[in-house]
Amino acid sequence: MAQLADRVVQAVLDLFAVQSSVLWSRDPDGSLVVLGISGRARDGFKLGDVLPTGVSLAGRAVSQGRAVWTRDVFAEPGLPMTAAQRTRLQATGDRAVLCVPLAVKGETIGVLSLGDGSTREFTTEEVTLLQAFADQAAIVLQNANLYVESQTQRLQLTQILESTSDGVLFVGAGRRVQAANHHAGELLGCESIPLVGGDLGAILGHECTEASAAELLRTCAAGHAGDGHGAAGDLEMPDLKRVLHWETRTTSDADRTVGLTITLHDVTQEREIAQMKSDFVSFATHQLRTPLSGIKWMLELGVQEREVGEQAKSYMQDALGAAQRLIQLVNDLLDVSRLESGRMKTAVQAVDLVGLTRTVLGDLKPQIDEKDHRLTVEVSEDVLDVFADPQLLRQVVLNLSSNAVKYSRPGGWITVRLTHDREFVRWQIQDNGIGIPKESQRHLFEKFYRADNVVSLETDGTGLGLYLVRLIAEQMGGRVWCESEEGQGASFFFTAPRGQGGSRPGSPAGPAAA
Ligand code: ADP
Repeated sequence: MAQLADRVVQAVLDLFAVQSSVLWSRDPDGSLVVLGISGRARDGFKLGDVLPTGVSLAGRAVSQGRAVWTRDVFAEPGLPMTAAQRTRLQATGDRAVLCVPLAVKGETIGVLSLGDGSTREFTTEEVTLLQAFADQAAIVLQNANLYVESQTQRLQLTQILESTSDGVLFVGAGRRVQAANHHAGELLGCESIPLVGGDLGAILGHECTEASAAELLRTCAAGHAGDGHGAAGDLEMPDLKRVLHWETRTTSDADRTVGLTITLHDVTQEREIAQMKSDFVSFATHQLRTPLSGIKWMLELGVQEREVGEQAKSYMQDALGAAQRLIQLVNDLLDVSRLESGRMKTAVQAVDLVGLTRTVLGDLKPQIDEKDHRLTVEVSEDVLDVFADPQLLRQVVLNLSSNAVKYSRPGGWITVRLTHDREFVRWQIQDNGIGIPKESQRHLFEKFYRADNVVSLETDGTGLGLYLVRLIAEQMGGRVWCESEEGQGASFFFTAPRGQGGSRPGSPAGPAAA
């Protein structure tokens, strides 16, 4: 910038054959600061000298927003002058001074001045020429300023990017990497090749499995098509024994997607710990299942024994109930661990969801009758087949239905509705029970979560049912969600891809799972 300013003031000396020239830049507070000096001005001015607002002829050029001149700066009537400025001018020997403002888009960004040792008038040509020169210089200086600013911002951005322990990539159209930090290269196992300018597919292809890379590439393509707000997933890197979690954010410029920012975080350890936990649960529950089934069987035989007294039978019945609950818990934990690890074997087929719903509600009839609930099932005329594993689908319907029975006070009503669109069947169960507090709703589908208001009903539960429902719904390619007002009942919904008559799913219908 200083070099540029020097060239401007040097050109003024050559063009106008005067003895000195000074270029001032205007600070945000209105004061002027010396940016360039040439000729005899060097005897009086130093770079960085400051002129307060409105002082001397340069100050007047700013306040009047036009060229101003004087044949003798020391004899100019009404010209505010500081002692420092007077001393500087005296050292240069300037008497006649001409100042023009430097303006960009109506804003004065500085002043260009020239001075001569003799007291003389300035011609109109000189004034016009200096103003024209200043207009050009203003544009050049402004551009240089913008360039410096953008370079500074670029540097700051690079420093920020490099200071994070996550990998960050910016991908433009056509999967080209436009920016990347050092960690991204390290995490992706590509330290030796430059990421910037490379094709994301080729970069991921170095170490990531094809399937895990394909998901990120799909997200990138969707992001550039304008529908990929904030997706996430994992990149598996078997040779490096590494798992990276990625998240994407689209960057838009006036409604147009210009790129995608991908952050990469090494989650190898977290995944290993989760796997160990899941393996342990799976092992422990397997070990528990056989003895528990034995206990249950013995108790069933025991309560049928004629010689056993009524009191002892009642104890055995209680123990049998407890054993059944334990077996249910063990089974749920096993299902969760299989679904989480992707080890669940499924047999997907067309299932009549209406028939399945009626069977489940039939199985629940004793509980419904015991609580004196009124049950209604509303079904549209069409056949509502869905593509799913019947056992898993039954679990979803059973969990949601038994919750509706469980979390409603006696004498309540429960309505089940089945509707569909072209791709999905939507299943809804509504009750007028205790409902769910607002702040609990977003946690409902988390593992072991139970809302605080369940204490009012003295029911027992594990908080596993809805988590299982969510895992199954997602596995089916559907969604589950809830709508509720505390004290006014709840509605639970899930969607499942339609079977015959409906096309296979593209993207699940309904709001995202809570
Ligand atoms: P559990 O019933 O074993 O506690 P779930 O995972 O099935 O576990 O449900 C989690 C929590 O969601 C329940 O503890 C309860 O707080 C809430 N919940 C589920 N269904 C309903 C409902 N129909 N009405 C009110 N609260 C419900």
